[in-house]
Amino acid sequence: MSSPRRVVAGNWKMNHGPGAAREFAEALDLPISEDLDVVLFPPSLSFASLRASLEAKNAPVALGVQHVHHETSGAFTGEVSAAMAAEAGARYVLVGHSERRQIFGETDDQVRRKVDAVFEAELVPVLCVGETLGERKASRLEEVLGRQLGAVVSPGAIQERMDAGQALIVAYEPVWAIGTGETATPDDASQAHRFLRGRLREWTSPETAARTPILYGGSVKPENAAELLSAPEVDGVLVGGASLDPDSFSRIIAAVGPGTQ
Ligand code: PEP
Repeated sequence: MSSPRRVVAGNWKMNHGPGAAREFAEALDLPISEDLDVVLFPPSLSFASLRASLEAKNAPVALGVQHVHHETSGAFTGEVSAAMAAEAGARYVLVGHSERRQIFGETDDQVRRKVDAVFEAELVPVLCVGETLGERKASRLEEVLGRQLGAVVSPGAIQERMDAGQALIVAYEPVWAIGTGETATPDDASQAHRFLRGRLREWTSPETAARTPILYGGSVKPENAAELLSAPEVDGVLVGGASLDPDSFSRIIAAVGPGTQ
């Protein structure tokens, strides 16, 4: 059974305009190990500038967008579609990030429709799931993760897509660890990832579950990236704040280093 690819992804959120994106690309350290997928999620307006600057230095960094609408086009002021993201050169789309769920009120049903749209555009959804501190303290971790993943993965249609070779990435991002400086311990991350992998196995197939990368996100820094990535079931990291600085993002990539898988 094939193991998942290892992934280091950076979510810039609403930071870095086109000029800052170009400077970031120029300062990013290369080379990047061939067995590592590095992905950046810039704001949509900085996408073209970042793409051109990375291409100019042959950097093996793929790009994604942070958000899409589930329709392909229409009267949805301010939105972009997955098809547009694909045309612009994106390969990945973040879906269900806790900031989208909490600040913009995105529901599990909207997340499911977005994932469908992302698959339809032949892009890879990076599905974010995670519990709040209150939910963790109330021992509701598995209930919350199961509900958020199940909203997307349990319907048979997803399995058909995955059997047809399309990929999904899952990111476990405990809400209490995002932007707070608090990090889950490697054991906490492994426990949540093991649960998610088990559900994937149940709802898809052993092969799909085995090849689906499950990333950890929540205050990942150069100092803790290697330890988190060496935890069982952790296939990569999704980095917010520390991905904004080319030096710290490069150090995270270096800390993850060439893999042993
Ligand atoms: C994120 O927003 O996905 C994230 C993990 O943020 P941070 O690394 O800043 O906690």
